[in-house]
Amino acid sequence: MEEKFEQICEDCGKSIEGNINYISGYPYCDKCYERNVNYKGIHDSDYCPKPVFYGNGEYYVITVDIDGGGYLDINAEKLLDAFNKKHEEYMYIVHNDKLKEGFRLVFRPMTSDYFENNIGWDKLKSIIDNMGYKIININTAK
Ligand SMILES: [Zn+2]
Repeated sequence: MEEKFEQICEDCGKSIEGNINYISGYPYCDKCYERNVNYKGIHDSDYCPKPVFYGNGEYYVITVDIDGGGYLDINAEKLLDAFNKKHEEYMYIVHNDKLKEGFRLVFRPMTSDYFENNIGWDKLKSIIDNMGYKIININTAK
């Protein structure tokens, strides 16, 4: 009897039927794979990946709008590298119409302890500042 392993798409969280595509070892369905190979660091504003939670306790989603440093894929990649140990582990970047020379950083749901221990406001602010961006807005939602 043939064994079938169910594979869950890393982005949409649905069971993958048909082709399984891999990006850095993670499985993706055709649709999400297509979107990801065209992506260079900045997702569309309505991008909403399946939630991943970090820590134990009350979870917060922190979004940080930064502007003034350029709407540049290369800067998006630098920020992703600075805040993630692997591909979009803790943070991803989305387009925001209100920002002309910047974008929105979205941190995955995590406890405030987890955020402080793994990212931290000081590190966050200094990296953003060093890259020539200004923080326009910080939103913390439960
Ligand atoms: Zn998918």
